[in-house]
Amino acid sequence: MILSSSWVIPVSSPPISEGAVVLDGERIQDLGPTAEMLRSYPGQQVRDFRGAALLPGLVNVHSHLELTLLRGYLEDLAFWDWIQRLTRTKYELLTREDLGISALAGVCEAIRSGVTTLGDAMDLGTSLDALTASGLRGVLFQEIFSPRPEESDDRLSDLEGKLANLEERIGFTTAGRNGPAGDRSTRINLGVSPHAPYSVSGTLFRKVQQWAASRDLPVCIHVAESEDESLLIEEGRGPMAETLRSRGIQWSAPECSPVQYLHRLGVLSRRTLLVHCVRLGAADFPILKQSGVAVAHCPKSNWKLGHGWMDLKQVFRAGIPLGLGSDSVASNNSMDLFEEMRFSLFNPSWFGRRDGPLDAGGTGEVFAAEKALHLATLGGARALGLSGSTGSLETGKQADLIAVDLTGIHTMPVYSPVTAIVHSARSSDVILTMVGGEVLFENGTVTTLDEPDLKKRVGRILQKMKPAGPA
Ligand SMILES: [Zn+2]
Repeated sequence: MILSSSWVIPVSSPPISEGAVVLDGERIQDLGPTAEMLRSYPGQQVRDFRGAALLPGLVNVHSHLELTLLRGYLEDLAFWDWIQRLTRTKYELLTREDLGISALAGVCEAIRSGVTTLGDAMDLGTSLDALTASGLRGVLFQEIFSPRPEESDDRLSDLEGKLANLEERIGFTTAGRNGPAGDRSTRINLGVSPHAPYSVSGTLFRKVQQWAASRDLPVCIHVAESEDESLLIEEGRGPMAETLRSRGIQWSAPECSPVQYLHRLGVLSRRTLLVHCVRLGAADFPILKQSGVAVAHCPKSNWKLGHGWMDLKQVFRAGIPLGLGSDSVASNNSMDLFEEMRFSLFNPSWFGRRDGPLDAGGTGEVFAAEKALHLATLGGARALGLSGSTGSLETGKQADLIAVDLTGIHTMPVYSPVTAIVHSARSSDVILTMVGGEVLFENGTVTTLDEPDLKKRVGRILQKMKPAGPA
């Protein structure tokens, strides 16, 4: 099949005006000017997306699909109140079945928004069902919590059991995947997520890290997100410290930055994805660079929860692998990578510099629309360890792509398709979402999910949550 359009934006190479992508099953066979592709591959079915741009599917490196039902439910709370209320709602009010609906609603939104790959932190495993049902690609990080050092052996064995269960569900054996080619479960990779320095003891961090290293599993950790977390780690005080003390949990502050704390514990490596990194000190950048970690930048969530902003310029200049994440819609309140791209461009670290507002400084490299699109695609794929198979339109890569309509009055006139996509387009301008050559969204319909039924089921859960909702 040949997909043609007014523009093809491969991301790893310059945009092609009047371009086409040739598909061979789940992979990209070729791409180039439409006339050339039609000559080289005669007799193929051609689908034309006039007025649209074809580009790699967006990569959301940090989501919490299980929390989709909490969109708009936890507003205007201080961070520590927000996180405690979120935890109570998830575990005391909602059932596993509800969280399954939540994850399905989340993937439905992702597909409509042009997201083809997710890095999702989950506890109850429902994201796996949602990804398999929807056809999306992703790395699913099994969460683990416990600030009590004495529980670390038990929690590690829980984690091992949960991973074994997930592996069985995706047909994974020690010899590798046993699913047939094209099987949707082959689009899923697994990892682990010791949640954060305030919810996981140092002992448990070390044990999880050693176990993950022995299995070569990717690891996702929330770090340097809030002032409360910094107070806990640097000074052993603040609301998080008070809660730990009130629960009788031993805590001795390491008196360093959160990133330095993780570094001292030995948990930072090339397999680590650090989420947030809002509160970074000068000494943290060399640690991030030398340990080889990737960073999930979640600008909208950081602003909405009142944490502020990551020093994107310094992280970018240090050459640290970077992707964009929406975080959960409980703190965003949408999964819209177009908005995250714009937030990255409007990051205050670009402001007021002598070299100009968007210059990356000293490198001659300008952080403009192309860079934001790179973060949302190939950069994200690299941060998740998937850039060999997705994140750009290249021969041999998986056919993970989207079409974005640029004929709307809000995107016209189009001088540059990249500028139009990054600065003017909305997630609702996505008209095609494809993963591994499988169409997940077209003609306004998500093809793999029963969206009308899903909406009804979300409505029924809303009735249950309303009485217990925010005052
Ligand atoms: Zn998160």
